[in-house]
Amino acid sequence: MTVTQPMPSVYFKSPDVAGYPDVPFEEKQRLFDEVKSDIRYKDYLYGCYECGICVAACPSARFYDFSPRRIAQASAREDVELVYQQMQEDIWECSQCFSCLRCPRGNNPGGIITIMREVAVNNGLASAKEALAGYSRIIYKIMSTGTQVSPDMLQRDAFPDWGPETGDVSENLDLWRRALPSETLHTTSTGWEVSERTLVELYLIWLTTGALDMIAEIDRSLHSILSELMEELLEDEGIEI
Ligand code: SF4
Ligand code: SF4
Repeated sequence: MTVTQPMPSVYFKSPDVAGYPDVPFEEKQRLFDEVKSDIRYKDYLYGCYECGICVAACPSARFYDFSPRRIAQASAREDVELVYQQMQEDIWECSQCFSCLRCPRGNNPGGIITIMREVAVNNGLASAKEALAGYSRIIYKIMSTGTQVSPDMLQRDAFPDWGPETGDVSENLDLWRRALPSETLHTTSTGWEVSERTLVELYLIWLTTGALDMIAEIDRSLHSILSELMEELLEDEGIEI
């Protein structure tokens, strides 16, 4: 791994100022070890030339105080304090576009961020809870119906930037939906029709892959609502877990 100069202290903010709790060094080390133990990690980081190509390609670096180079360097230098700070702040600025894959060293800063985000969620870090708070409704919608934004959510007031035709469409939504060629799309309160069997299968996938445990870490009440809902469905289907 390339050895580079220490990171300037200008990048550090006190956790109190930044708005997340400080934790003992051992806990920060544990979190970093969890990132490094991910099977993908060794393929995402090979050191850093400090060439800045990833920064030039990164759309988030253009609009935020964010740099994929800093992400790669902090991990390459095993800078436990900075990695913790990045997990509480920087990683949520990334749009996961993977333009940084053009790194000449073969690094994947966006991929390292994916792992860091997963560790942040799995450990219920404050940054993960804050970043994902706005998605509770969408998670609920996906997991309870098997689809995401439903047509009846597309109202003029909710989406003013979609133009005046949104209102006209929503007034005759039923008709518009029935005009669609596929029968599973003739729905208004869901994106398309999903059978209970498919919902159960999706739920079992989320359960066995740990997606539901991740939700429990960031939003306990959402997790209990979904669990109750699905328990009923599983019972109806005669499935015992
Ligand atoms: S994946 Fe993230 S870090 Fe990489 S270029 Fe896109 S926004 Fe930047
Ligand atoms: S493109 Fe790769 S080598 Fe260059 S600064 Fe970014 S991570 Fe480092």
